[in-house]
Amino acid sequence: MAGFFDTPIEYLKGVGPQRAALFNKELAIFTFGDLIQHYPFRYEDRLKFYAIHELDEEMPNVQIKGFIKHKELVGVGPKKRLVAHFADDSGTIELVWFQGINWANEKLKTGIEYVAFGKPSRYGSRISISHPEVEPVTARNEKQSYLQPVYPLTEKLRSRHLDNKSLLKLFEELLTLAKDKIRETLPQTIINERKFLSKREALINIHFPKNIELLSQARHRLKFEELFYVQLRLLKMKLVRQHKFRGQVFHDVSLLTRFYNEHLPFALTDAQKKVIKEIYADLKSGMQMNRLLQGDVGSGKTIVGFICMLIIVSSNSQCALMAPTEILAIQHYKNLKRHADKMDLPIALLTGSTKKSERKVIHERLRNGELKILVGTHALLEEEVQFQNLGLAVVDEQHRFGVAQRSKLWEKNVGLYPHVLVMTATPIPRTLAMTLYGDLDVSVIDQLPAGRKPIKTLHKFDSHRLQVNQFIRDQMAVGRQIYIVYPLIEESEKLDLKHLMDGYESVCRAFPDVAVSIVHGKMKPDAKEYEMNRFAKAETKIMVATTVIEVGVDVPNASVMIIENAERFGLSQLHQLRGRVGRGAEQSYCILMSNYKLSADSRVRLDTMVKTNNGFEISETDLKLRGPGDITGTQQSGVLDLLIADVAKDGEIIKDARDVAGAILEDDPELEKPENREIKAQISNTRQSEKNWSRIS
Ligand code: ADP
Ligand code: MG
Repeated sequence: MAGFFDTPIEYLKGVGPQRAALFNKELAIFTFGDLIQHYPFRYEDRLKFYAIHELDEEMPNVQIKGFIKHKELVGVGPKKRLVAHFADDSGTIELVWFQGINWANEKLKTGIEYVAFGKPSRYGSRISISHPEVEPVTARNEKQSYLQPVYPLTEKLRSRHLDNKSLLKLFEELLTLAKDKIRETLPQTIINERKFLSKREALINIHFPKNIELLSQARHRLKFEELFYVQLRLLKMKLVRQHKFRGQVFHDVSLLTRFYNEHLPFALTDAQKKVIKEIYADLKSGMQMNRLLQGDVGSGKTIVGFICMLIIVSSNSQCALMAPTEILAIQHYKNLKRHADKMDLPIALLTGSTKKSERKVIHERLRNGELKILVGTHALLEEEVQFQNLGLAVVDEQHRFGVAQRSKLWEKNVGLYPHVLVMTATPIPRTLAMTLYGDLDVSVIDQLPAGRKPIKTLHKFDSHRLQVNQFIRDQMAVGRQIYIVYPLIEESEKLDLKHLMDGYESVCRAFPDVAVSIVHGKMKPDAKEYEMNRFAKAETKIMVATTVIEVGVDVPNASVMIIENAERFGLSQLHQLRGRVGRGAEQSYCILMSNYKLSADSRVRLDTMVKTNNGFEISETDLKLRGPGDITGTQQSGVLDLLIADVAKDGEIIKDARDVAGAILEDDPELEKPENREIKAQISNTRQSEKNWSRIS
C-alpha cells in the first residue's frame, strides 16, 4: 500500500520530471518522504533589518529592506555587471551582479519593496553587496526574528536554478500537503517522559522554525529518534544472534592455570585480568561470543588473546589469529610461539608467502586437529584452510579488514560458529563504538602495564634538524635505537618514495659510522623481514621506514621515534606510530618534524599529540576533525548514513537512545505490546535493507 510519503517527488507542484531526475541523481531524493527528511544543515538568523547607513564591510550577511531606485549595466566583457541602486529611508547601497545579469535584470523591478540579503563589502568609499538574495517582501520574510533554513545542495542543482530559495518554496508546498498526514513514529510514553515535540511539530519546526527554542527541540527529537532506531536494530540483532547462535562451551582452564603459574613472564594488569574474566564468561556461556577488545597501543592485548586461546586448547579445540599485514602476522607468530613452545602447543604461520609444500602440511595438520594455533593474514580465509574444530577466531587490528572478510571466519567451523574476538588498537570513542558495534560486546583494557614511562612528545621544525640529530646521537650513545618514519601516501607514491630514499641517504650521511636499516612497502617480504630482524637484534641502530611499521612491531630497545612531515599524517596514525616506542623500561621520545607552514587542522593534530598520550582522547579529537566515516572506513557502507544525528557531537543522545532501546527490548523483545506499536510499524516500514545492517557485525 503506497502512502502519501511514497509519492514520487515529481508530483510535487514545482518539481516535474526533469527536476525529479535531478533530485534522484544528486540527492537520492525519490519520494515526498525522502524530501521531508532532507533537513537543513544550518539556519540563517534573519533577526533584524539593518538600516543601510549602518552597514559596513565588517558585517557578516545582513538583511535590508527597500526599493530599487534605478538599474544600470556597466563595464564590458568580463567586467560587465548589473548595478541596482537600492535605497531605504537611511541611504542607498549598490547591489551588484556579475553573473546571471539578464536574469536578475529581468526579475528586479522598481516600485516593488524588496528584502535583500548578503555580505556588505567596500569599494573605495562605497558599500555594496554582490549577488545578494533578493525577494519581494512577503508575510513570511517581513517578520522579525525569523530563521531561514539553508539546505544541502550540489553545484549541479544550483546551476539548474534549484537553489535554496526554490527549495524553500518546495518545502512550503510539501509541508502544507503533508502537515495532516504525519503520523507519530515514537511511542507516546517516550514522548511524554522526555517532553518531546510530536513528530508533526518536529518536522514543521525543523523546516520552518517558529523560534530558536522550538528549533532546538525539533532537532533533539529527530536526532533521538534516528539514534533510537539505530540502537534498537543493533540490540535486536544481538538478541537474535544470542538466541539463534548457540556457542561451543569451553569450561576447562587447566592449560591456562599451568601457564599462569609456571610461564607468565610478568604480572597481568588488573584491566587484563578483568577482560580475561569477561571473555571466559562468554566462552562457557553456551552462546557464541562476539566481542570487541579495545586497548590502547601497548596495553597488552596479545597476551590476553593467547590466554584465551589456552582455554580453547584445553578442550582440545583449535584457534586462529588473523592479522592485517604479513609483518604483523609474523610478529604475532613469534610472540605466541615463545609462549606456545613452553606449553608444547603446536602453532604455525600461514601467509601469502608460505611455500606450497609447507601449506599442504599445515592444511593437513589443521584438518586432523593436530595443529592447535594458526596465525596468519587473510590467507587464513582461503577455501583450502579447513579446521577440525575451530573454537576461537581472534582478529587483530580489525579496522583494516573488510567486514565481509571477518564474517568468512565464521564459516570456518562446521557446526557451531567459532567464538570471535576482535582486537583493535584504534580506540574508538564510546559513542562511535556504540553506533558501529552496538551489537558486539565491548571489553576495554584501560590501563598500561606498570612501570611504563609516558612517552615524551615534542614538535620540532625542520630548521631544528641539527639539534634533533644531536639528540639522536646522544640517545644512541646510551644504547638506544631510533625509528625515523616518512610518509608514503599512495597518490603521491613516486615522490614520497624519492623523499624516503633521500631521507635515508641524508641519515646515512649524518651518521656515517652507524648501521641504518630501511623498510618500505615496495620491498619483497623476505627483504623486509631481513631488515626488521637486523633492527630487532640491534645490528642496526636506526630504522628508516614508512608506515609499514605502524602496527605491531615490537622492539623494546627502540625508544626514539622521529616522524618526518608529521603534518601529513592523520592523528590516529601518529598515535599508532608513537605506540612503537615506550615499550621498554627507558624514557621514550617521539619527535614530530614539520615545516613552518601548517594548516589549522595540522596544528591541532600536532598539538594534541604533544599534549596527550591517551588514545581515547586522541580519537575523540580525530573524530571531530575528520568525521566518523574516515576513521572507520565506513563512509561508503551506508552504516553511518545518518540524516540528522552526528556521532561526533551527539554522544549524550546516543547513550540515552541506547538505554531506552535496551529497556524496551528487555521488556518486550518481540515488540508486541500495544504501547510499542509505533516502533513495530516504523521498523517494518523502513527501507534500510537488512543486508546493510548485517554487514557491520
Ligand atoms: P598491544 O595491545 O598494542 O597489542 P602488546 O600485546 O604488543 O600490546 O604488548 C605490548 C608489550 O607489553 C609487549 O612487549 C608485551 O609483552 C608487554 N606486556 C603485555 N602485558 C604486560 C604486563 N601486564 N606487564 C608487562 N608487560 C606487558
Ligand atoms: Mg597489538
